[in-house]
Amino acid sequence: MPQHPSSVSRRTFLESSAAAIAALATTPLIADVNSSEPKKLGFALVGVGTLTMDQLLPALAKCKLARAVALVSGHPDKARQQAALYNIDPKNIYTYDNFDSIKDNPDIDVVYIVLPNSMHAEYTIRAAHAGKHVLCEKPMANTVEECQSMIDACVKADRKLMIGYRQRYEPLTIRAIELSHSQSDIGTIKQITAEAGFNTGDPTQWRLNKKLAGGGPLMDMGIYAVNAIRYLSSQEPSEVTAFSYTTPNDPRFKEVEETIAFELRFDSGLLASVLTSYGFGCNRFRLYGTHGQLESEPLQSYTNNRLWLTHNGPKQEITYTHVNHFAAEMDHLADCILNNKPVLTPGEEGLKDMKVITAAYESARLGKSVKII
Ligand code: NAD
Repeated sequence: MPQHPSSVSRRTFLESSAAAIAALATTPLIADVNSSEPKKLGFALVGVGTLTMDQLLPALAKCKLARAVALVSGHPDKARQQAALYNIDPKNIYTYDNFDSIKDNPDIDVVYIVLPNSMHAEYTIRAAHAGKHVLCEKPMANTVEECQSMIDACVKADRKLMIGYRQRYEPLTIRAIELSHSQSDIGTIKQITAEAGFNTGDPTQWRLNKKLAGGGPLMDMGIYAVNAIRYLSSQEPSEVTAFSYTTPNDPRFKEVEETIAFELRFDSGLLASVLTSYGFGCNRFRLYGTHGQLESEPLQSYTNNRLWLTHNGPKQEITYTHVNHFAAEMDHLADCILNNKPVLTPGEEGLKDMKVITAAYESARLGKSVKII
């Protein structure tokens, strides 16, 4: 069995993580008229691809406050098959063409955008115009301008906009954030290194198409590293220096980078390094403070993520009870809608990551450091 850090007893951890999760899913005040069960909000999933089929539909079946009520797809057969599996009324299957008529469907409270990145802005804005709350997958969009237009559309429609940063809703990340902010365990954070990538396959996939994906591994995986550095430090970087590399003639990388690495500078003196690639696997962070260190590997898998604290002695593993990241994320949004609370990862979070990503690409292109505004 892994040991627990002396300064953070198992009991304290369990109590604090339980409190954090409870805070994310307070019992809603609203209940169905004919039932004592809490009301579940109806989610429409836009895009019936890998994430929707393998993760989101199974997760919705486990949610306390959310349920799958509609699908939007360009493939009616696939949509009908998934609808049958998850008890979704076939009348609630939409195409991209008739998507806007969701405005007349009171079953749908939330639209979850699970499309290629270039389509996030358009469908978020259309969902807001239809009067629906929006959960949009990461990366929020392909440009800073698109992110801002999504925020504006949801503000104008008075609808909530949340970005699917699933890790912010699971106990190990919540605990990592608590520890990174602990003066006694970590002290002042001086350096963070975060890495996320994998060796990708099929050269024809949309993730390698610049127009659809907006970029390469940085848009898809490096964003986890950028987001981790930002949530672990609660600071925003002011400057970036980046290098990218692509193996010549590799058929996968005709349009997007293979690997990009960069240094982030913060006004506090904190330095941080990001590494992301579609050429090899990496999935971890390491944080150095004046009084202790944190390390995590894997950092952003769906299950079995691990975290260690080093403080006054050998490194000690933090244990936790796993929750389904996506179910926790969707229950959080439903709870915030039902109880009129702000979401933990609103559009502004996605926009901040996009500013860092845009500046990193610009720095690699120009071959010099770039300010992040
Ligand atoms: P996918 O390729 O498996 O599915 C994409 C869906 O979009 C498919 O149903 C496809 O038919 C549809 N689509 C519509 N127009 C398309 C077009 N022009 N080209 C290609 N597909 C089109 O992708 P995915 O893995 O499900 O990813 C979808 C989104 O979810 C992405 O933004 C991705 O970054 C995000 N994602 C997030 C996580 C996470 O852990 N939060 C994990 C995987 C994917």
